Amino acid sequence: MQQCVSLIVPAHNEGAHISQSLRTILSEARKAQNVRYELLVVDDGSTDETATQALALAQEGEAVRVLSFTRNFGKEAAIQAGLEHAEGDAVILLDADLQHPPELIPEMVRLWCAGLPVVHAVRTRPPERRWGADLSARLFYWLFRRMAGIDLSGQCDYKLLDREVVDAYLSWPERQRFFRGLVSWAAYPSASIPFSVPPRSSGQSRWSTLGLLRYAVTNLTSFSALPLRLVAGLGLLTLVAGSAVGLHSLFLKLSGQALDGFTTVIVLVSALGGMTLLALGIVGHYLSRIYEEIKGRPSYLIRPSRQ
Ligand code: UDP
Ligand code: MG
Repeated sequence: MQQCVSLIVPAHNEGAHISQSLRTILSEARKAQNVRYELLVVDDGSTDETATQALALAQEGEAVRVLSFTRNFGKEAAIQAGLEHAEGDAVILLDADLQHPPELIPEMVRLWCAGLPVVHAVRTRPPERRWGADLSARLFYWLFRRMAGIDLSGQCDYKLLDREVVDAYLSWPERQRFFRGLVSWAAYPSASIPFSVPPRSSGQSRWSTLGLLRYAVTNLTSFSALPLRLVAGLGLLTLVAGSAVGLHSLFLKLSGQALDGFTTVIVLVSALGGMTLLALGIVGHYLSRIYEEIKGRPSYLIRPSRQ
């Protein structure tokens, strides 16, 4: 039987161009042979005609389904909903603004048919951004590599996943997900196709600066407990330094060179500060263990048995 590929398109207020974008996506996808497509548009709480435009396409007889959120839940939620509702033997995730060039779809499908369960589309250079945004993106990728040990530079959400990978991904109980990070972490056999990011079809990026910052912090903390462990390290360091200062002022006191009362203050402040931070660090350590347990991320993954 002919294999089906689900094209998942998260869209938030893309009404101005979504009709044209979806047509382009479908016509490019059809250049791949021996597969059929379903298009799943996840309308992430748009307040414009995004959903109506997508539904109009369905009325023209295209295999289009539209999921409409009650409000804007964010792109990660849209991706999750798309994966949960897709019925294909593989899924491809791509943006609604044609910044993920649909011309790559036939090559992605070819690689999938050749037996690869994951195909990443990788940006050859970062998209055109204001320097501030560019700098913070670089900082995020650097921190993510150092803290989580996963190199995400060039990675975006434009990916093909085999049904086996989608099912595994959906079986994890984790709720606050970072799609890109998790797919890289899972490390299924994969291929990468390089592309350079074209300009947006129309309008501005749908991410606000604050939204991106929040997204970065959530993703870093969901992949690393390093900040919590840092507190313990800092506590230990403060305790050692504080003890040195304390001993020094005790020595001054005993040799009669200190002013009355100061020694007690110095010893108390340095000992209490160090111990408080150390205690916080210990609590943090347990907290990070609980956090790891609660995420329920699997301890291992078995490679898919295709071919
Ligand atoms: N998007 C979404 N929900 C949001 C923000 C964005 O579904 O809250 C969609 C958006 O419609 C687009 C994709 O995610 O299809 C990427 O968003 P955008 O192009 O604004 O981001 P950028 O290209 O700047 O990363
Ligand atoms: Mg975009």
